[in-house]
Amino acid sequence: MAELKADPRIESFHACRGDKRMVERAFREKPMTVKVGNVEIGPGKVVVMAGPCSVEGREIMMDAARLAKDAGAHVLRGGAYKPRTSPYSFQGFGVEGLDQLKSAGEHFNMPVVTEIMDASHLPAFVDHGIDMLQIGARNMQNFTMLKAIAGAGIPILLKRALSGTVDEWLYSAEYLSAFGCPQVVLCERGIRTYEPATRNTLDLTVLPLLREWTHLPIIVDPAHAVGVARYIRPLAAASVAAGADGLIVESHPRPEEARSDKDQALLPNELAAIIADARVQAAVNGRQFHA
Ligand code: PEP
Ligand code: MN
Repeated sequence: MAELKADPRIESFHACRGDKRMVERAFREKPMTVKVGNVEIGPGKVVVMAGPCSVEGREIMMDAARLAKDAGAHVLRGGAYKPRTSPYSFQGFGVEGLDQLKSAGEHFNMPVVTEIMDASHLPAFVDHGIDMLQIGARNMQNFTMLKAIAGAGIPILLKRALSGTVDEWLYSAEYLSAFGCPQVVLCERGIRTYEPATRNTLDLTVLPLLREWTHLPIIVDPAHAVGVARYIRPLAAASVAAGADGLIVESHPRPEEARSDKDQALLPNELAAIIADARVQAAVNGRQFHA
């Protein structure tokens, strides 16, 4: 059996950086901008990522992309590999889903973000020109995968684990940075608390704190936190008001038909309203809504 050895790159890096982590402000003062296709995520700008929870077919993906684009979203989302609680739930279209998502993104000139759940799938993500890899909440501490995908040269959206502390979250970002991907965007998506009335509890308290601790951009996913479409709007506005660099939400042309997360899928007009709010909130705290 192959012996597991410490990576010499990490050993030597560790020796020269003292006790600072690469993702810490103490290591790099200036807030970082992460470029995803033609979209810049970072200081001074607010971005919106939107699209269906799952990629569900070529035609509906095109419709979903059109509505996201028309509403003013910058990055198109859609899951081809889905982490589902039940093995009997829709698991995603896999490679075919990557193709449908990327085609829709290209058609509407939007970079795409999609979740990777297994490092062995990485070549397909690269071949399809996926612009940003999402590490889902359930894989935030899948260290083997973090190490394996970090060298691909693709920026990463790192979601907070269901029970991830800020420190654990930053250590996961550190894995990505140390193994070749400093282009990391953090995403607060709600944590599991004692409260069952909402799907999760949106933890906006981390926003000002993370600003001090890290130079990485931070976006908020209010949809997976609250889990109900009609409750998302005020949380989205609050996220931008509290300094988030952007939002990620789920939108669908016909939410009732969505094959995953249909209760939190926004209608076109609901997405447009959230984006209108984001423009206002961005201006209030001296930033611009990304062109
Ligand atoms: C998703 O983005 O559809 C998703 C599964 O997110 P999370 O990992 O935050 O649950
Ligand atoms: Mn979802």
